[in-house]
Amino acid sequence: MVSQMAPDTDIRDNLEKVKARIAAAAAEAGRSAAAVTLVAIAKSHPAAAIRQALEAGHRVFGENRVQEAEAKWPALKAKYPDLQLHLVGGLQRNKVKRAVALFDAIETIDNPRLARAVAAEIACSGRRPSCFVQVNTGDEPQKGGVKPADADAFIAGCRDDIGLAIAGLMCVPPLADEPAPHFALLREIAKRNGVECLSMGMSGDFETAIRFGATHVRVGTAIFGERPAMPADRG
Ligand SMILES: *Cc1c(COP(=O)(O)O)cnc(C)c1O
Repeated sequence: MVSQMAPDTDIRDNLEKVKARIAAAAAEAGRSAAAVTLVAIAKSHPAAAIRQALEAGHRVFGENRVQEAEAKWPALKAKYPDLQLHLVGGLQRNKVKRAVALFDAIETIDNPRLARAVAAEIACSGRRPSCFVQVNTGDEPQKGGVKPADADAFIAGCRDDIGLAIAGLMCVPPLADEPAPHFALLREIAKRNGVECLSMGMSGDFETAIRFGATHVRVGTAIFGERPAMPADRG
């Protein structure tokens, strides 16, 4: 499902505003703005909207479904070979081959069979997407991610048993919660496991996430405008 872009959506302007807010939040936290990567989440938005962001110089994007990404991104990648694409939605094992072929980062590794499949596909394809472990910081039954209590063992298993390097951790806090404790928990898990990157913070809370050390903020609505409501299916 692809939304119609509002004619007055000025994506270039929105990007500038979000980047200014990132810079201000980083400065306030005593961090460098360059240490925070803005991942522009383009799910449900058409290639025309993405092109506006590319023409404005933006290069890091995210999608939540493999199939939708395959329809939009190969042509854009051909034109902008330096763009980076992150998968931020759940990944089914039967789509691992396609995901490794298309994405430069996979942020949703959350079970050993998936981790093994990604490691095997990396070995045989020669592609090396950065891999993030998604942590279900709110322990929500319907949400992807490893439970916080299982995170240390899972990260160690990826590294030591499966041979999958873990570049970062990712979380999506429960909608109804104050996000700060979730960001603090993710930071703590990363710190004790020596994991470098933290993907946390969305349109409504990325400044808070930056305060808690986010290295990647995933912002959709504040850049591309509202999306039509979509089921949160795995792709
Ligand atoms: C859609 C989505 C985002 C972006 O959300 P906004 O509120 O539109 O900024 C970030 N992360 C994930 C995992 C998403 O699915």
